[in-house]
Amino acid sequence: MAELEGKVALVTGGSRGIGRAIALRLAQAGADVAVCARTEATAQQTADEIARLGVRSLARVADVSSMEQAAGVVAAVVAELGGIDILVNNAGITRDNLFLRMKEEEWDAVLDTNLKGAFACCKAAARPMMKAKGGRIISISSVVGLVGNAGQVNYSASKAGLLGLSKSLARELASRNITVNVVAPGYVPDTGMTSELPEEAVAHLLSRVPLERAGTPEEVADAVAFLASPRAAYITGQVLAVDGGMTM
Ligand code: NAP
Repeated sequence: MAELEGKVALVTGGSRGIGRAIALRLAQAGADVAVCARTEATAQQTADEIARLGVRSLARVADVSSMEQAAGVVAAVVAELGGIDILVNNAGITRDNLFLRMKEEEWDAVLDTNLKGAFACCKAAARPMMKAKGGRIISISSVVGLVGNAGQVNYSASKAGLLGLSKSLARELASRNITVNVVAPGYVPDTGMTSELPEEAVAHLLSRVPLERAGTPEEVADAVAFLASPRAAYITGQVLAVDGGMTM
């Protein structure tokens, strides 16, 4: 039997990039997988790919920074797929600027999506997970949340915030058999987030990676699939860096 057969997963921002790789990886492990994003066409495309793997899938349009929309998407997953066992908080954006130039809107947009979005989805998923007496919550942070990055005070604060959110929630939900962990990827090229990075920035990033290469969405997805699996049942409140050794 596939490791995640009978489980239902929701991957926020699962329509493309790292989220899409996570959604497909969980489906390959046998889970039924829902994805949500703000753009319907790409979310539906990924849901169709998931369904071709022989599991049930669902695409929903939702902006996770809205408490109401996050609750709505979790409710739809529970209603249509029968529950929610695995929540992956992956939806994320950047609005980079040097600190002295950073606008309030840039700060708010990033914190609202990356951190409040995770809060909103956790809040909606916690109750059904408690009722089911188990669950897995995995949030996608970043090496930037661990060590900071010039030009990204908003992004870095949101990604560091996910660590505090997850560790505190891990303590609150442990007695309910719900684990809460974080995956912190390093540089993963060719996603919506990284495709426009200037060449020198990429060269600088890669010069700091002991394994001397960038990561792939599939390598991040493998770490998430492990944390979602029964093999990780005794792991909670942890941060797993998938970064080629960048932050060791
Ligand atoms: P991406 O290709 O830009 O994908 C972002 C995904 O999130 C898309 O599906 C996007 O779809 C969705 N999304 C954005 N805002 C949303 C919102 N408010 N509500 C719902 N969905 C939303 O980026 P990525 O590189 O795959 O990044 C995925 C995650 O990995 C992010 O949390 C990012 O911070 C993290 N990460 C990435 C890297 C990297 O090098 N790529 C490194 C470390 C961490 P719509 O635009 O249609 O909403």
